[in-house]
Amino acid sequence: MPHTANPQLIEDLVAANHILVNEGVLDGFGHISVRHDKDPSRFLIARSMAPGLVTAADIVAVDLDGVVHDAQGRHTYVERFIHSEIYRAQPGVMSVIHSHSASVVPFSVSNTRLRPICHMSGFLGATTPVFEIRYSAGESSDLLIRNQALGKALADLLGTSAVALMRGHGSVAVGRSIQQSVFRAIYTESNARLQSQAMQLGEVNYMTPGEAQATSDMVDEHLERPWQIWKQEAADKIAR
Ligand SMILES: [Zn+2]
Repeated sequence: MPHTANPQLIEDLVAANHILVNEGVLDGFGHISVRHDKDPSRFLIARSMAPGLVTAADIVAVDLDGVVHDAQGRHTYVERFIHSEIYRAQPGVMSVIHSHSASVVPFSVSNTRLRPICHMSGFLGATTPVFEIRYSAGESSDLLIRNQALGKALADLLGTSAVALMRGHGSVAVGRSIQQSVFRAIYTESNARLQSQAMQLGEVNYMTPGEAQATSDMVDEHLERPWQIWKQEAADKIAR
């Protein structure tokens, strides 16, 4: 008999789905998961559906081989291997987000690396790795992380970074909590937008690695504040 997850965790996962849509990170595609609080070899994620419509009844459990454990036999996203292989590789990761947020994609297809330019996005670190799926899947893939081998290749590239870009596709953000991964996904999109704007003005004065670390530590103390307002705004929008 599988362990039942903490209802608060499921509530937060549902709220995170709605927040990420409301904040422009997810649309009809993309997904967020959280590691199961009673069984670290499983994670919780919505069944295959638009994130803005997810409710608690739509959450299923998936193991680290990508097998769905659901009494109703429902399926989840094809790209669940992004989540399963990152959870396998990084025991400290508790939440994973995969998105196609638009401002990030240009940095995945050019030689310009996404780098932190403001204090809310210091978690990006010195630079953000870019996953080139051609190295693993050849020249004719559909760019999706469709199996364990591709998921492992992506997890290897991510390493202990907070964010990795996926060439011509999107990005992945991880965190030690849902609140942290959501914060990182939102500010990755924001940093990409700001960096593109700054580059049009001329040479960019990026944060130093020391500033990136210090600001990252600072914002980690304040994750609850934006979470509360993002959650309220998403709930208000759904209520309207
Ligand atoms: Zn995708």
